[in-house]
Amino acid sequence: MIVTKNQREIELMREAGRVVGLVHVKLREFIQPGVTTKEISDYCDKIIRNQGCTPSFLNLYDFPEAVCTSINEEVVHGIPGNRVLKDGDIISVDVGACFKGYHGDSAWTYAVGNISEEAQKLMKITEEALYAGLAMVKPGNRLSDISHAVQVYLEDHGCSTPRDYTGHGIGQEVHEDPTIPNYGPAGKGPRLKAGMALAIEPMAHLGGCETETLNDGWTVVTKDRSLAAHYEHTIVITHDGYEIMTKQD
Ligand code: MG
Ligand code: MG
Repeated sequence: MIVTKNQREIELMREAGRVVGLVHVKLREFIQPGVTTKEISDYCDKIIRNQGCTPSFLNLYDFPEAVCTSINEEVVHGIPGNRVLKDGDIISVDVGACFKGYHGDSAWTYAVGNISEEAQKLMKITEEALYAGLAMVKPGNRLSDISHAVQVYLEDHGCSTPRDYTGHGIGQEVHEDPTIPNYGPAGKGPRLKAGMALAIEPMAHLGGCETETLNDGWTVVTKDRSLAAHYEHTIVITHDGYEIMTKQD
């Protein structure tokens, strides 16, 4: 069941989203060669708590850290630890914050130092795929119009997208109905309505779409070990379009 949000709930989600956006703005400077993923997680945790929120992902399904950090061929759900970032890496940081029981969720991919042209291309295409999906968000459109737009954008630009990981509704739970795949035909699924809150999150690979999960039980990698990127915003549907809750400004 898709729960639409009232004005009061949207206000709380706006605050949660503001904090998530703030974390990403600060990560632009913080992410450098030599930093460990654990340091990134602790830095995010501190900002989130200083802003009066709690990290949404800590203990969610028993995830052990505040944020997910996924490097290079890692797609999603990387666990922060002792790994040191090096020049040329790319890292996706998935950040969630909870304010008075309501969540914001946004992932972004960062360059560490100087990265290859193909990594730059992957990041650009994946971010643009997010906006291609968002362009379909307005009342009356169907949910899969978003999915289809993302897939077409990624594949037209030579990338693939995993099948097992999706966007989602969001509110009092991080993951609510509906599930929002990044692929599929247009014109299917529920009609979009004002007050629906959605996390739209294209993931893209330079190689094939297959993934596998490492032995830690969490980290998802591309099966062919090609590079992956991940961009996500939490939005709420308005009467004529959408508002991004996790803006970075
Ligand atoms: Mg996320
Ligand atoms: Mg999400």
